Amino acid sequence: MAELLYEGKAKQVYATDKADEYIIHNKDDATAGNGVKHDQFQGKGVLNNTISCIIFDMLEEAGVKTHLIEKINERDVLVKKVEIFALEVIIRNITTGSFCKRLGAPEGVVLEQPIFEMSYKNDDYGDPLINDDHAIAMGLASREEIAFIRQETLKINELLKAFFLELNLKLVDFKIEFGKTEDGEILLADEISPDSCRLWDVETNQKYDKDVFRQDIGDLIETYKAVLARMQK
Ligand code: 5GP
Repeated sequence: MAELLYEGKAKQVYATDKADEYIIHNKDDATAGNGVKHDQFQGKGVLNNTISCIIFDMLEEAGVKTHLIEKINERDVLVKKVEIFALEVIIRNITTGSFCKRLGAPEGVVLEQPIFEMSYKNDDYGDPLINDDHAIAMGLASREEIAFIRQETLKINELLKAFFLELNLKLVDFKIEFGKTEDGEILLADEISPDSCRLWDVETNQKYDKDVFRQDIGDLIETYKAVLARMQK
């Protein structure tokens, strides 16, 4: 059995024979509110892995460099070893979630320009919102790295928006993570799935993402299956 290097809320990371490659295993766990709400949904890991691999392949084809080497099976991917920046990188296209809660802003407003946010990835402090100067002062990334991450994230937003619109889904907001190889190359890492994106139906605004679990308004597995079905059409 391969050595378990790290276990997160929804994933395990294993070593491989090669020092610069890892295996990521997707679990069935779902958490919300910084782990306060926790449940298991049979098949969630498979759905997320399938959806995320399709999206990462699409992004790679469009010139975005990612950690993904190949999908090994339903739940596991082989990835390039990276050191993950302790940053949650968020884009907002439509107002909702913590943006509205924090600022008292109205929900559902289509933003003229996407909002780029960064949070310090640290559960003990509730992933606080930070700016470039905070990230640099905390040694989380350099100014040049943040500039690259911002530019890459805005490009990913345009690609994802177009991808989901074809599926009749609006990309409301999303969170992504980046990592750095030993050579200093910055790659898109982690995953892109309904766990990390908010997706609303174009006509009805029905939610097709983890908010159905966060807000107890629907069946998570059926919701994620519906997203995958639209992707496979
Ligand atoms: P908000 O800041 O409004 O809660 O979230 C903004 C976007 O980032 C949403 O699409 C949400 O799913 C995603 N997001 C924020 N924090 C996390 C997190 O810790 N894990 C995951 N998977 N997604 C997150």
